[in-house]
Amino acid sequence: MAETTPRTLHAWRPERFMVIVAHPDDADFGPAATAATWIDAGSQGWLVCCTSGDAGADDWRTDPIELGALREAEQRAAAAVVGYAGITFLHQPDGALANDLALRELLVREIRTFRPDAVLAVDPETLFHGDGGVNHTDHRAAGIAAVDAVYPAARNAMAFPWLARDGLEPHTVRRLYLFWSNHSTAWIDVSTSIDRKIAALREHPSQLRHPEKLEPRIREWAREEGEPLGVEAAEAFRVIVIEEDDEGDEGPTHAATTPADAAEAEAVAER
Ligand SMILES: [Zn+2]
Repeated sequence: MAETTPRTLHAWRPERFMVIVAHPDDADFGPAATAATWIDAGSQGWLVCCTSGDAGADDWRTDPIELGALREAEQRAAAAVVGYAGITFLHQPDGALANDLALRELLVREIRTFRPDAVLAVDPETLFHGDGGVNHTDHRAAGIAAVDAVYPAARNAMAFPWLARDGLEPHTVRRLYLFWSNHSTAWIDVSTSIDRKIAALREHPSQLRHPEKLEPRIREWAREEGEPLGVEAAEAFRVIVIEEDDEGDEGPTHAATTPADAAEAEAVAER
């Protein structure tokens, strides 16, 4: 897509954000450096993996249960590097992820529990990465499932009413940050956290066929995104604003300022 306006660095930061992806390692190849930057600035992040990556091996003899357990352990180690408050694995089948009502309910449950200001997910409109490859069917399914869970289901009191009856009140997510997009509109400076992204990716050894190529490849992607902005490294997003802030367009929307909020945040972190 031709750019009609010059790129500027994106400054808005969610106080709470949730990354929803298909597989262990997607979040780390995706927005890990942005997540680390926001967490360093005081945000709380939560990661949701729809599958455990149990089809992610080259040998058909691989035990999918063992592989899924290994990849969950790898993702937990990577999430600790980035600094997420926690992870949920939804244990959907790798390679067969479907944006159905059952998945939507699971995601609405996560969103209404953690109550993020922003959700980060794969841009579900990315069928091809430019002309350089196919976007995995699970990535597209997780992306559209995240969008459909955010709007309207998570905020709609009459969607899955048994959730509200269980105390999971409707919640409005203000923004979507869609990564791996062919229509990026926002660039976040990740110069201070690109090393953490690389360190997080190194926690997925089962998925790295050429570990020696990882660092130069990741640095080059980030450099290409950052160069037009004059920064060493950036990550790109297509930002969808669902609900404007009450007080202007920049800055966190509702910090955990009361003891009750802080206690709730701690309780959530212990899930
Ligand atoms: Zn993936």
